Amino acid sequence: MFLKLKKGTTEEGIKHIIDKIKELGFEAHLSRGANSTIIGIIGENVLKTKDIFESMFMVESCTPISKPYKLVSKEFNDKKVVIKLSHNVEIGNKKIAVIAGPCSIDNIDYLYETASSVKQCGATLLRGGAFKPRTSPYSFQGLGLEGLKMLKKVGDDCKMPIVTEAMNLEQAKLIADYADIIQVGARNSQNFDLLKELGKIGRPVLLKRGIAMTISEFLMSAEYIASKGNYNIILCERGIRTFETSTRFTLDLNAVPVLNSLTNLPVIVDPSHGTGVRSYVMPMSRASIAAGADGLIVEVHPKPECALSDGSQTLYADKFNEYMSEVKKIALAMDREI
Ligand code: PEP
Ligand code: MN
Repeated sequence: MFLKLKKGTTEEGIKHIIDKIKELGFEAHLSRGANSTIIGIIGENVLKTKDIFESMFMVESCTPISKPYKLVSKEFNDKKVVIKLSHNVEIGNKKIAVIAGPCSIDNIDYLYETASSVKQCGATLLRGGAFKPRTSPYSFQGLGLEGLKMLKKVGDDCKMPIVTEAMNLEQAKLIADYADIIQVGARNSQNFDLLKELGKIGRPVLLKRGIAMTISEFLMSAEYIASKGNYNIILCERGIRTFETSTRFTLDLNAVPVLNSLTNLPVIVDPSHGTGVRSYVMPMSRASIAAGADGLIVEVHPKPECALSDGSQTLYADKFNEYMSEVKKIALAMDREI
């Protein structure tokens, strides 16, 4: 349920309402918009207290939220969340955010080559895995802290915010000291303890959709993060598992307009994992932007055949300009910038 406060409600009035919410055993989430102040009340059986809040003179209206996710629903807040990052990069505004880089960080030379090439072509954020969630325990597991340090150094030198994945609480705390955005991978997107911790850490989170996750479940995962006070969440459609075998996953582009209709969070697409095939990455990137995505995350490497993971879906760093110019055509047609 959320309360819309009357214009001119004082700080004291706001505090009084929040104290009352807490006294009744609920959580209060304050949102100050340009035109109105809203307080979300979260908890079980919250609707039973509607009369109490409705009768408060500072309260203009008291509205139940019909969806199981509350704080990330458009019903609670329909103002688009814009994630503000270092180097003046934003995600969720008119400009399409392109996050590019290797699946796994392998060495600093390749990382520099990738970062400078994608940056020159218009990508604004650098991705790279240091802690890798691999299906096989015998596959390369990532360089860990050493990789994280390389990513930070290259990101700083190339003036790009960095994105990397945390698979557990310990890694999340470590990564928060280095990365601008902490990625939660598809395999961990219902690791609720991790999500709650990321809510407390407060660093922006790139939340991937699980491979067998409904959109409602996806938003509930985002709600876990928001419920701890962190609203800086980027949702990423990265393909779901279906009966189809000609691509690695089935990129569910329906998710883009569906999410855009349900939440104010930025929505991006990962056509690299969504297809698993290099030649399909560009067409599906174009389709993602046409469907209304706010950004793309793509795997890029100077020598994909030498990459330590996901080489077959990885774009060539020296051909990234062709990729960007194709994506740009659609972005401009959609009245977006890139
Ligand atoms: C990745 O981005 O490298 C990755 C492992 O993604 P996902 O969790 O979507 O498989
Ligand atoms: Mn990968």
